[in-house]
Amino acid sequence: MDETPFGDDTLHEECGVFGIFQRADAAAVVTLGLHALQHRGQEAAGIVSHDGAQFHVERHAGLIGDTFTKAAVLERLPGTAAIGHTRYATTGGGGLRNVQPFFAELSAGGFAVAHNGNITNALTVQRELQRRGSIFSSTSDTETILHLVATSGARMFVDKLIDALSRLEGAFSLVGLSSSSMIGVRDPLGIRPLVLGEFEGAPILASETCALDIIGAEFVRDIEPGEMVVITESGVESIFPFQARRRRFCIFEYVYFARPDSNVEGRNVYDIRKKIGIELARESHVDADVVVPVPDSGVPAAIGYGQEAALPFELGIIRNHYVGRTFIQPTDSIRHMGVKLKHNANRSMIEGKRVVLVDDSIVRGTTSQKIVQMVREAGASEVHMRIASPPTSASCFYGVDTPEKAKLLASRMSIAEMADFIQVDSLAFLSIDGLYRACGEAGRSKISPQFCDACFTGDYPTSLTDQDGADNVRQLSLLGGAG
Ligand code: AMP
Repeated sequence: MDETPFGDDTLHEECGVFGIFQRADAAAVVTLGLHALQHRGQEAAGIVSHDGAQFHVERHAGLIGDTFTKAAVLERLPGTAAIGHTRYATTGGGGLRNVQPFFAELSAGGFAVAHNGNITNALTVQRELQRRGSIFSSTSDTETILHLVATSGARMFVDKLIDALSRLEGAFSLVGLSSSSMIGVRDPLGIRPLVLGEFEGAPILASETCALDIIGAEFVRDIEPGEMVVITESGVESIFPFQARRRRFCIFEYVYFARPDSNVEGRNVYDIRKKIGIELARESHVDADVVVPVPDSGVPAAIGYGQEAALPFELGIIRNHYVGRTFIQPTDSIRHMGVKLKHNANRSMIEGKRVVLVDDSIVRGTTSQKIVQMVREAGASEVHMRIASPPTSASCFYGVDTPEKAKLLASRMSIAEMADFIQVDSLAFLSIDGLYRACGEAGRSKISPQFCDACFTGDYPTSLTDQDGADNVRQLSLLGGAG
C-alpha cells in the first residue's frame, strides 16, 4: 500500500452510480446501467437490491460484465428496487471492504448508499465520530455519511439524511436505497452529475444519460444542484434542503470524464468537445498537413480543430481497445508499458507530414512523451501538440483522479519546458476562457465562475478541511474517496 500523502494509489477516485425503483429484475437493469458507466470506474462494482422484505448485497472487483453473472444478478439480487456503483479504486483503497454501495442496518431501517464525488472534510468528521465511539469498517469517505445518518437526532429518515449531508463539504452525487424509497441528492454546487430518467414508469437515477440510453429509458431531467429527490410508491418528491449556492459543475467532465454521447447539465458532451477543438484551432494556429487525435479522448476535439483549421483529420494513431486506461495503472513502469500496448502509429497517415496532435489533457506527461516519440518514429516531419484544455496544474479533491500537485507536469514546468520535455516542435493549451466559450459562456466570470475548474485554476469552490489540517495529511493516504 502506498502510504504517501496524496499518492497515486490513494484518495482520489472516479465513480458512476445508477438506481432503478419499482421494476422487475431491478438488479439486472442496474447491471446494464453500470456497464454504460464503466468509463467512470473499472476496478470494482457493487449492487444492493431490496425485495420488499430484505436487502441483498453483492460486490466484486473487476468489470461489471465479467463479474456480475446471471446467477449473481437474478438469484442473489432479487427485488424491484436496486442501486449500484462502479468504482475506480486503487491499491491503497482497502480492497473489497471499500466497494460500494455501502449498506447499514440503522435504527430507521436498512439503508444503502452509492456515492460519486469526494467529501473534503470526511476525515475530520470521521475522527470526531470515532472519538464518540463510532466504529468504521472501511476507509471510504462514504461510510461517514452512514454514520452521520445513524447518529442524527432528527426523527424522520429523510431529515436524518439531510442533517448528515449538511455536515459535509465537497462533492457528492448520491443514490440511496431504503426499504420504501430511492433517494437521489446532489451537493449544493452540483459538482458531479446526476440525472433522473424513466423506463416504462420506473424512475431511474444515473450519473450520465448514456446509462439511460443503454436500456432505452427516457431522460426526464438533471437533478439540480442542492436538490434531493425522494422516490416512493407515490412518486417523485423534490426538496431543496441546502442553502442555495451558484452552481459549479465540474468542467473536466466536459473535457475528459463524461462519455461523449451523454448530455450533462443541458449540454451534449461530444458537441462541447468539438467546440473545444474549434476554439483551440482559433487560439493556436500552426501551419500543418494533418490533424491526428490521440484516441479516444482526443477525437472530438481533433474533429473540431480540423474543421476550423481546414486540415484533413486522419486516424494517425490506432488504439487497441483491449487494454484499460493507461492513466490508472498503479506504477510508473506499467503506465509506460500501457502506452505502448494501447497505441500504435498508423505510418501511412503520418510519414513526411507536419502533424497536429490533439489530446484532451496532459497530466503527468507520460502519455504525450510516448505518443510523440511514436509519431516521430513513424516519420512525421514536424509534431505540434495541441491540448484541448488549459494546463492541469492543481489536484482535484472532488472525485476525479489526479495525482498530487508535484506530479502534475504543468505545476512544475512552463509551457516551453513542457514542450521540451515531450519533444514537440510546438505545444499549446486551450485558454480557460476558450474552454468556457466552448461550454457556451462568454468567458470565465472572475466574480463568480460558472464551473468548478480547480484543476486548471487552483480555485477550489469549497473548503478543503482535511487538506488544511496539517495533522490530517499523514492520514489522508489511508482514507479512500468515494469516487
Ligand atoms: P499523462 O500521461 O499522465 O499525462 O496522462 C494524460 C492522459 O490521461 C490524457 O491523454 C487523458 O486522456 C488521460 N486522463 C486525464 N485525466 C484522467 C483521469 N482523471 N483519469 C484517467 N485518465 C485521465
